[in-house]
Formats: sequence, structure tokens, C-alpha cells
Amino acid sequence: MSRVYNFSAGPSTLAEPVLRIVQEELMDWQGTGMSVMEMSHRSKEFITIAEQAEQDLRQLLSISSEYRVLFIQGGARAQFSLIPLNLLQQDSQASADYCDSGYWAAKAIDEAKRYCQVNIVASVTDSDGQRTLAPMSEWSLNEHAKYLHITPNETIDGIQIDSISKEGLTVPIVADMSSTILSEPVTIDNYGLIYAGAQKNIGPAGLTVIIVHDDLLKKENPLLPSVFSYRKQADANSMYNTPPTFAWYIAGLTFRWLLERGGLAEQQKININKAAKLYKAIDGDDFYHNNIAATCRSKMNIPFTLADNKLDSQFLAEAVENGLCNLKGHRAVGGVRASIYNALPEQAIDCLVEFMAEFSRKNG
Ligand SMILES: *Cc1c(COP(=O)(O)O)cnc(C)c1O
Repeated sequence: MSRVYNFSAGPSTLAEPVLRIVQEELMDWQGTGMSVMEMSHRSKEFITIAEQAEQDLRQLLSISSEYRVLFIQGGARAQFSLIPLNLLQQDSQASADYCDSGYWAAKAIDEAKRYCQVNIVASVTDSDGQRTLAPMSEWSLNEHAKYLHITPNETIDGIQIDSISKEGLTVPIVADMSSTILSEPVTIDNYGLIYAGAQKNIGPAGLTVIIVHDDLLKKENPLLPSVFSYRKQADANSMYNTPPTFAWYIAGLTFRWLLERGGLAEQQKININKAAKLYKAIDGDDFYHNNIAATCRSKMNIPFTLADNKLDSQFLAEAVENGLCNLKGHRAVGGVRASIYNALPEQAIDCLVEFMAEFSRKNG
């Protein structure tokens, strides 16, 4: 058996020690004679798994008891509608602030417009071929908004917002952290609600993690389907309906793996180092180009282009021959994208950087 270096944006690579535990426990979870996949979500075994996962996530992110943690279905994209439905009662005149930081933020905005008045507080600008997003202190916030929605890491554009603070804000921040959660410590108190699809930095697809302050659970739209009510799910410990149990279990193993590695401060150091190595390789060679201003560059998803885009397919094919997979840019933007989540080892970056230098030498 040989595993490749998988740069997929999501579903993406899982930590090898996690996969080994899953493999070991697949037929017989801890003497029960069954797989976690085959267990009732209401069995005491699964409830132990579920509670441990939540406890470990709370420890990793220092989540206080004022917040509820949900493990539900729908993915991040379902939350684009479920957030206004959960937070705005049935008030189409209500307004919400949205930062238009890129592809996913724009999708969230399109969806929110069906439920409320959307005010765009900032957009990505392009000057001299460099894409930039102004820091949060410069955004045009609307004091009547019910919440401010942000996308701290734009998975497709490769843009990250590092200036997040609730200072001076009168409304709660709602954040789509699908591609950045667990990559670095987060001040949970800055947020009213954090959501993330699991398939990037947490575990398998099918699970969505929501971290929500109790105060935000009081204004849901009466038409909201009960399974998607954050309040009802919180009251039912995410078991109002059958949760994605196997994904929840693997998420729990990932949380454990991160704790054993030293938590998120340690993970952040590794991630900073990984990203710096790749940006250095891109910036140090005229053959490669990343168009995001240095202050806004993602540490999780790094898109870049080749000097001649006719070489893209050759680059991608030769990368695969070198065990470097899923580097194709998103269909909306083309080029190359390296997604370098927690579970992708630093050696993967070293191999990619070496391959890039060689490719540029031969074709540049
Ligand atoms: C992947 C992604 C999504 C979409 O997630 P789904 O689980 O497919 O709905 C939304 N937002 C961000 C930031 C993402 O990275």
C-alpha cells in the first residue's frame, strides 16, 4: 500500500494515525463486536464517543459553557440559508452585514438575500493584479444589522481575514470557518456563531460542526424545518434526528490527534511554516505567481498560476507521477491550488516545492 500526498480542497486528506485507528476499530469497536457505523446513535457506546468528541473540541478551542456545539448534517452551504432562518425570526425587513471576501462569501450572500436585506461591508479589490481585502476596522458596518457574516478563509480564492475582532461591533459575528477551523487558536468570544463543513479540516463529508452562543438560539423563523433548528438540535444534543455518526466518530479521533500533537498553538506553528515554504517557492520563481496581497494570503489554500497556462495540464500530470495529487485549481478559477490542511504533512510541501523547482527549470 502506498499513500499519495493529497492536496485536495475537500473532501481532503485525513491524518494517517486517525485512519489507522479507524481501520483497527472498523470490524469491532472496543469489544462491542460491531463497527461504529452499525451502532445506534442512542446506544451508550455511541453517546460516549459523541460526548468525548465534543469535550475534546471544547478543549482544543477553549469553548465556554455559554456556547452550544452541534454535530449536524447539511454541510456549510445549507447553513447559508439556515443562518438567516435561525437568527432572523420571519422578518424579511431585517438586515444583515456580509463581507464579500470571495467565492464562498458570494454564495452565502446570494442565499441570504432570499431571507433578509444584505448590506455588503467590504469586497475584494484588485489593484495592479493584486487582490486585497481591507482590514475589518475599515469595513462599512450597518448598526441595524442583526449579525455580521464573514468567511475567514476563502478556500477557492486563497484569501484569509486576519483582522477579526469584535471591538466596536454591536452585532454578533457569524463565521464560515469550513476551511480554517482547527488550523490555529481562535478567540471564540469574538463570535456569535461559527460553522464548518467537516470535510476540510475535521473529518469526512456529511458532518457540519456549529458552535453557537446561547443568546442566538432565541429568534428562529417558525417555518424552519425542525431538524435544522439550532435550538432544537442543541436541546437534543444534536440527536433530534440521526446524526452522521461515523463522521462524528472520525471527527472525534481527529480532535484527539490534535490534542496529542500539542493543540492548536502547536498546529498553527506547523501551518505557518508549511505555508511560508510554499509562498517562498512561488515568490522566488518568476515562473509561478500568486495574486493575493501578502496581508490577505491564506495559510490553508494556496492558489497559483504558471507563467504559461498551456503548461497547466502537463504540470498537474507530472505532479501526479511524483505522488502529488489533486493540485488542479477550482473550476471557477483554473490554475493550480495546493490545499495544505492540518493533516497534510510538511514533507508534502517539501516534495511539492522540489517538484516545482524542477518543473520550472525544465520548462521555464
Ligand atoms: C467547502 C466550503 C463550503 C461548501 O461546503 P459544503 O459542505 O459543500 O456545503 C462553504 N464555505 C467554505 C468556506 C468552504 O470551504
